[in-house]
Amino acid sequence: MSEKVLVTREIPEAGLRPLEGFDVTVLSERPPERGELLEAVRGASGILATLTEQVDAELMNAAGEDLKVVANLAVGYDNVDLEAARERGVVVTNTPDVLDETTADTAFMLLLAAARRLGEGERIVRSGKWEAWGPKMLTGPDVWGKTLGVVGFGRIAQAMARRASGFGMEVLYTARSRKEDAENELGARYVELDELLRTSDFVSLHTPLTEETTHLIGAGELEKMKPGAVLVNTSRGPVIDEGALADALADGRIFAAGLDVYEEEPTVHPKLLELENVVLAPHIGSASIETRDKMAVLAAENISAVLRGEEPKTPV
Ligand code: NAP
Repeated sequence: MSEKVLVTREIPEAGLRPLEGFDVTVLSERPPERGELLEAVRGASGILATLTEQVDAELMNAAGEDLKVVANLAVGYDNVDLEAARERGVVVTNTPDVLDETTADTAFMLLLAAARRLGEGERIVRSGKWEAWGPKMLTGPDVWGKTLGVVGFGRIAQAMARRASGFGMEVLYTARSRKEDAENELGARYVELDELLRTSDFVSLHTPLTEETTHLIGAGELEKMKPGAVLVNTSRGPVIDEGALADALADGRIFAAGLDVYEEEPTVHPKLLELENVVLAPHIGSASIETRDKMAVLAAENISAVLRGEEPKTPV
């Protein structure tokens, strides 16, 4: 009998092809209820999961002893309990590389939209309240020629830095370790987080979510940012203290923010929803047609490889 693979959400069709020959169950487009998930996972050898599912010891136990691989349809894997997987000999994979450029596009889109007040402008046009072109209407800071500080300097941050250099920006970065090759290639300069916050006109977050990066940007860090600076987050919501960000935006201590991710998705801090100077995207960082196809194929190929006894392409 062929091995069972559970796909926890509907994925692009392309991702089902590498799973031909397995006994595949695809749950619905919406995130499954926990009870439904625990039931559906029984007897699975492979789980293709997304970041809306907590893949923890309970879920792995519910799958049972046949479980060999969890393929997360994301590069971040903060929703997967790696220790529980290790104890059970379950391989965990993610989808790095294929989404770098698309996610950097989203970060740069949010940066431009927040600086140049696109959300506010759209709301004015749609509400019928736009009366005339105005010399002082909806002005925001220039992006070109300014300083971008990226927090984390991995794959997506470096793709962001490449975009910034096309806009004539100076790029500063911080990370746990120096990346000298990337510094030379991209003309970026390493600084401590403090200096990055104090000197950047734009700050973009690109770290994974870990214990260390939870609330990496809180009230104190927002206080250090340049007055009039713009903050962009396409990493994970809890990297920012959302309440503190809402206060800093409401007080006008920073000019604006562009957010793709939130502390309690899909709930957004109520104060943020009321502010004009924040652009809110619904976690669409990697949501291009081509990239979602590539992510689905990569996740499915990882499952297929492990179940055939081969090395997966992108183990965590
Ligand atoms: P990556 O290549 O692993 O890069 C992560 C970077 O973060 C590394 O430079 C790392 O530095 C740095 N870092 C880790 N801990 C840090 C800390 N405590 N302080 C400062 N820097 C720290 O990851 P990636 O592929 O670029 O992805 C980054 C994150 O983006 C993912 O983990 C995911 O959560 C998020 N993401 C979101 C979307 C979306 O849809 N919005 C899409 C894709 C990815 P060291 O090398 O020095 O440790």
